[in-house]
Amino acid sequence: MSEEYQGTRFVTAFQERRPPSHPFVPVLCHWCRVFHERGFAPPYPGGSSGNLSFRVAADAFIITGTAIGLKDNLAADALVEVVDCDFAAGVVTVCGQRQPSSEAMLHALLYRHFPTVGAVFHGHHALITSQAERFGLPVSRVALPYGSIALAEAALTLARRGDFFVLRDHGFVATGVDMAACGALCLDWLRKIQNIHH
Ligand SMILES: [Zn+2]
Repeated sequence: MSEEYQGTRFVTAFQERRPPSHPFVPVLCHWCRVFHERGFAPPYPGGSSGNLSFRVAADAFIITGTAIGLKDNLAADALVEVVDCDFAAGVVTVCGQRQPSSEAMLHALLYRHFPTVGAVFHGHHALITSQAERFGLPVSRVALPYGSIALAEAALTLARRGDFFVLRDHGFVATGVDMAACGALCLDWLRKIQNIHH
């Protein structure tokens, strides 16, 4: 993550300026707290520190807002519902009070291509990123700019090889049928990799 964070690389169109409401919002906030506690989302100055989402309809999902940091006390107003994503035009349409995560397009692309995926978690963890190849995890060939379509497309390619993969020199992505499956994957891989290192 050598590249400096400078906000989203797409245009956000606000359909409605209200925080998302969904019965699973507290579940997403719970996983944000877990990511915070496990060090999956180390903050860096002004920067994105990971982003989590779950699907609410065919192409719609609720995701953490940009540059909020994954803290232990997030509520609905830290989240945004992405209702449409126009990849060609670079426009993300949302309901919410803030911009969606800078990796919203990566999440959108995975939901679009994998109908059974119900949750996507992305975090940063130096040990997982550096040890991924040793553990046989899919890793992208080259480092790509955060928030770019190229990074989203690399994630799509990796997602065809497994439900837990690594973006080179950047972080990890987990996909699952729901948030519980996604979160368990992240915790299992961290445990596995830490055990070998002890
Ligand atoms: Zn990231």
